[in-house]
Amino acid sequence: MLDKLDKIEKISRRLEPSSSMRHTINTAVLTYAKTFLTRLPETKAYTLPEASANPDWAAPIGDEPVQIETLLNLLAQHLDRPGINTASAGHLGYIPGGGIYSAALGDYLAAVTNRYAGVYFASPGAVQLENMLIKWMAELVGYPKNAGGALLSGGSIANLTAIVTARDAAGLKSADIPRSAIYLSAQAHHSIGKALRIAGLAEIIVREVEMDDSYRMKPDALAAAIAADRKAGLNPWLVTAAAGTTDTGMIDPLADVGEIAENEQLWYHIDGAYGAFFALCNPGRKALRGMENSHSLVMDPHKTLFLPYGSGAVLVKDRQSMMTSHHYFANYMQDTEALPSDISPADVSPELSKHFRGLRMWLPLKLHGLAPFRAALEEKLLLAQYFYEKIQEIDGFEVGPYPDLSVVVYRYVPAHGDADAFNRRLVEEIHKDGRVFISTTVLNGHFTLRMAAVVFRTHIDTIDLLLEILREKSRMLANQ
Ligand SMILES: *Cc1c(COP(=O)(O)O)cnc(C)c1O
Repeated sequence: MLDKLDKIEKISRRLEPSSSMRHTINTAVLTYAKTFLTRLPETKAYTLPEASANPDWAAPIGDEPVQIETLLNLLAQHLDRPGINTASAGHLGYIPGGGIYSAALGDYLAAVTNRYAGVYFASPGAVQLENMLIKWMAELVGYPKNAGGALLSGGSIANLTAIVTARDAAGLKSADIPRSAIYLSAQAHHSIGKALRIAGLAEIIVREVEMDDSYRMKPDALAAAIAADRKAGLNPWLVTAAAGTTDTGMIDPLADVGEIAENEQLWYHIDGAYGAFFALCNPGRKALRGMENSHSLVMDPHKTLFLPYGSGAVLVKDRQSMMTSHHYFANYMQDTEALPSDISPADVSPELSKHFRGLRMWLPLKLHGLAPFRAALEEKLLLAQYFYEKIQEIDGFEVGPYPDLSVVVYRYVPAHGDADAFNRRLVEEIHKDGRVFISTTVLNGHFTLRMAAVVFRTHIDTIDLLLEILREKSRMLANQ
């Protein structure tokens, strides 16, 4: 046995590279990252995937080691190029963030030290750091400092965590579900519907509350829908408003919705996955007035705090209700309860072992200070307003509502012919060009273009480039 151990230990020790081996891989990886960032301004924001691309480029996984250069070459070829370059200033499509570099270093440190951030007993420091960030976010949105919260993988899981908490806080049992109702607008993010299904609430009554011309929920329509349901003997349970919808960037009337929720004793949830961090800048804070009156709130650091993907957050004003839904005791974890402790992430979320997400958030916030975050957010608001004005100066374009945040919806209306078909061709041309990436949606039955300024690298030059491309391509198509 000792012989065998000796032999396999030698192989198993390859998992701990020597200092000189570490130096070699570090240098290769850092050089790769440096090249990626240096070339970023000239790199396309979108590259159509090649139909002939080998889908098994990442295989095979074999017994023998492969050189780091070989692996990085594979990434450069198959990962960096095809699809949306989400780090690019020209990503003006979905709600991206860009991924600030210092967050990657936070992740690196979290991974090297590999502290266990799930429970206080294992790493008081990691849990304290994450709880401090929750407290900071709570303060930012006007929640009390002792609100509950968790750093999660994204807005979808954060919405799910809030909905499960709201379900249990209302004591909804299976028999209550078919007669209970939730209120939202047609612009609510689909992760809410998904969360309801995952939370066992598929049979709940979903009332789509009418919107005004600017895609904001109408408070009177909400009040009327709740009243009608009460009259019918149903159980109005939850209302969810968007602090910035993904589609149009518009903000539901948060204060008015909150007042109705309070009068009607409904759980008030705000989906601020995209918009809540705009509270860091003055105009954003004003636009988001009323956010503080909700019971739960979702915000995505991987969107408007510009962190890499995999960073969402949920806040719940009454942290006890989060614990009621998520705290669990297991025999093998009895040691973890022995110490006086802070609330652990495992007590307030579905996760146990988890990524120490706090470090990728804390390091950039401290290292850069808040000022550049505030400036970048206010800049995005101004860029949307700038685009909104400028696009109307190009012949043929019409716009949706004046932007509440940093999304603008617009489309080209050709002198003759089908507008939907024209805009579809226009976006195809823009994708083929690839210098910028925009996305589309359907509003009031019309195929519509979206401009979302969210990436921290996006400045006025990129918006001017988009305007130039739109002018050039629309003129070309109109003259065909
Ligand atoms: C992006 C988004 C979500 C979903 O968040 P993920 O982080 O992608 O899971 C939910 N709601 C809104 C308003 C969003 O913009």
